Amino acid sequence: MPLICSMDHYTLDQIPHYRRQFIDARLSKFLRDFSIKKWPLDCVDLIKNIRDDKRIPLQIGVAANVRDKFDAVSRYVEEENVYQIILNRNKVRYPFQNSRDRRLNFTIGHELGHIILDHLYIPDTLKNDEERHIEDLEANEFAGKLLMPKKILLSCNFVSFPAVAEYFNVSTTALWMRLNNLQRLDLLSSRKSKVCNVCGNTQMHYVAKFCCICGNKLENNLNGIERTHYFDGVKLDRYQEACECPYCGDSSGYWFNGVCSKCNTMLYNYCHKGLYVDKGGCIYENPGNARFCEMCGSPTYFFSMGFLKPWEEARSLMLANAVAEGSMEYSF
Ligand SMILES: [Zn+2]
Ligand SMILES: [Zn+2]
Ligand SMILES: [Zn+2]
Ligand SMILES: [Zn+2]
Repeated sequence: MPLICSMDHYTLDQIPHYRRQFIDARLSKFLRDFSIKKWPLDCVDLIKNIRDDKRIPLQIGVAANVRDKFDAVSRYVEEENVYQIILNRNKVRYPFQNSRDRRLNFTIGHELGHIILDHLYIPDTLKNDEERHIEDLEANEFAGKLLMPKKILLSCNFVSFPAVAEYFNVSTTALWMRLNNLQRLDLLSSRKSKVCNVCGNTQMHYVAKFCCICGNKLENNLNGIERTHYFDGVKLDRYQEACECPYCGDSSGYWFNGVCSKCNTMLYNYCHKGLYVDKGGCIYENPGNARFCEMCGSPTYFFSMGFLKPWEEARSLMLANAVAEGSMEYSF
């Protein structure tokens, strides 16, 4: 049986249940307030946006020539009613280049956690070690959920541990801790599947040579991390024929030779090139959501006719809907 959790490093049981709910509520509001809908996140960009937005009074400082071991620290300056996050320039290489640099992303997420969870109002000197320890665990939990939302993380294709860490812009340690708290370390040894590394599509015919969503050549390009399901296609019956005409909506079924009897639209998602066999096209009937022919990579009939949105647009629409419906909010 694969290891799903190492109890030595499991920290969630130390955070009281009502505080975990509080973290989720605050994080939810934070994501809404700053319209965070896309991952991976770059927390350096994020804190700059927060500073410029001004709803949370924030100053960003950089400390140079300090020998301290910290990557970043945060504090609240009561007299000025402002939060400060100080980055340690000696420790920071930005933009991030490797797993070690990406530690900073989690550290900033952690400091943001202290701010958003109201830890900083009470001066450190008034807290005992135990209280400080719990606050750090809470800030870690906030950062983990912020950078690696459960819903996205658990549906990932774990091609390799470093690749997934890089995908989320975190260090391998941060990823390991997050998976451990979710009790899903088993994912590190899970079976890899075929995922297009451009658009995240997972549905491809076993003989397909091109991704039917983005037209990417599949050979050696099936190590994508984030999976995306493109459900937005024209619905086909089991003979690959559209259930209703994608142009005029006719569903009478009085069709002849795969052509709508009302408007002459073709009801199969042919390889568009195949419609002009003299141009060397292939003859292939593609799935209803195919923008590109799985066999030769040229645009499909449905896509050329404008029945399907470009995949980038379809993907951001799906993400926006997921956030609007709130399904992302329960997925930390
Ligand atoms: Zn801390
Ligand atoms: Zn693709
Ligand atoms: Zn029609
Ligand atoms: Zn083709």
